[in-house]
Amino acid sequence: MTSGQQRLVVVSNRLPAALKQENGEWTVKAGAGGLVTALAPVLKNRGGVWIGWSGSSDPTLDVDSLLSDFSSKAGYDLYTVPLTKEEVDGYYFGFSNEIIWPLFHDLQTRCRFHPKYWRMYLDVNFKFAEIVARRTTPDDYIWIQDYHLMHQAFFLKSMGVKRQIGFFLHIPFPPPDIFMKLPWRWKVIQALTEFDLVGFQTMQDRRNFLECLRRLMPEAKSEGRGPVITVKVGNREFRLGAFPISIDFNQFSEMAQREEVGQMSFRIKEALRHRKIILGVDRLDYTKGIPERIRSIQTLLRRYPDLKGRVNFVQIAVPSREEVDEYKELRTEIEQLVGRVNGEFSFPGWVPVHYHYKSFPHEELVAYYSAADIALVTPLRDGMNLVAKEYCAANASGDGVLVLSEFAGAAAQMQKYAYLVNPYDMEGIAKALHRAFHWDKEERSRHMTALRDQVRTNNIYWWVDSFLRAGIAKSLDDFPEVETLKFERG
Ligand code: UDP
Repeated sequence: MTSGQQRLVVVSNRLPAALKQENGEWTVKAGAGGLVTALAPVLKNRGGVWIGWSGSSDPTLDVDSLLSDFSSKAGYDLYTVPLTKEEVDGYYFGFSNEIIWPLFHDLQTRCRFHPKYWRMYLDVNFKFAEIVARRTTPDDYIWIQDYHLMHQAFFLKSMGVKRQIGFFLHIPFPPPDIFMKLPWRWKVIQALTEFDLVGFQTMQDRRNFLECLRRLMPEAKSEGRGPVITVKVGNREFRLGAFPISIDFNQFSEMAQREEVGQMSFRIKEALRHRKIILGVDRLDYTKGIPERIRSIQTLLRRYPDLKGRVNFVQIAVPSREEVDEYKELRTEIEQLVGRVNGEFSFPGWVPVHYHYKSFPHEELVAYYSAADIALVTPLRDGMNLVAKEYCAANASGDGVLVLSEFAGAAAQMQKYAYLVNPYDMEGIAKALHRAFHWDKEERSRHMTALRDQVRTNNIYWWVDSFLRAGIAKSLDDFPEVETLKFERG
């Protein structure tokens, strides 16, 4: 690290590297998500640090030496927070996945408010905070990622450790009627007020937070307008902002133009020749509205029989949380629905729903995006939904149609040019799809061009830049090796 620079310290539940066992040997693979792509150059250039859990609870595994090789190649330090199986069960599978995840997605009936989950969440947050305190200095800027770690600023302060610290919530923040169901609502809100900056995906999430804060702490006052505002509670002052996360536009756009990806896309279209392709891509999660979407396809084919044999619905469902019963049941429900719809409509040479339960290599996913005439992105609720943005970036032909849930965070930015639908309204989705088929090419291109411009401008680098600008009044341009960044930012 060059002296005098402020280091960036990213803290997330998982490290940006996954430990994998292949033929009895442990290896470390880099994470491929947009967050890692965007932050890696910044961390590298600033001699930064990433702190998180390695994903392994095996006490015999020497995680540190496995990570040190990765760390020297990546050019920034990785520090692991060791967690036992019991801690992972209570804090991650319990509090994070069975309470905050459903509650913040407005699905409170799925919550299991076990007090032991809460206790384990606090214990693990304390453990994280101890490591953050040990591995950082007062000059560092600490950026906490997501709902697993809402108590970091609170615990650092309670230890008497002074740090500049920001937090970004990747999932939605619910309105008061829903948030108030949380038995530990006051403590969670209070913990969030301990950060210097709290970032949300949309202005609506920020409004929801402010309403909850005012109900629980009536003395809270907000000042300012625009994406970042100031809040005062007693003698404490902190900031709230809306920073919609995004993708590396150029990475998707350039990949879609590669010859081998073009060939893959051509083969997909050839296999479904003379048929329009409607595409769904999601982690298999109950927030994504997959059963509702398949029922919409059933409604489409019932209402508009002229489409039989002329469309294919391709659903890619990426396995997720497979060990959890609720997710196993959802998988069974989806598979039965696919079977029912195909049983009702198939004829020799045509099966309406193509269902893939697997994760695709990046190139193949981009080939599907590029081949699809319509992307059907209908989560019941979503913090942002990157698939909506990736589809536009990879839509090389420039005339695809994005049919998007009004309850996805992405709708706030894309509503003008996407076809917005209510994910619970099967008739409405069927009607939207039918209309989208009859849009002429010029109309489709006009909409897709505007969507692509939006994602190109407000890309993942813009997101990092806006958060850091609000957090430390510095932008990516203040970081060294600007040329590299400029190149990557396009
Ligand atoms: N994705 C993937 N492999 C696949 C299909 C999708 O890695 O086979 C990725 C996709 O590129 C996207 C992410 O999964 O970046 C899904 O992100 P999104 O924000 O849509 O939903 P999340 O899963 O984070 O709730």
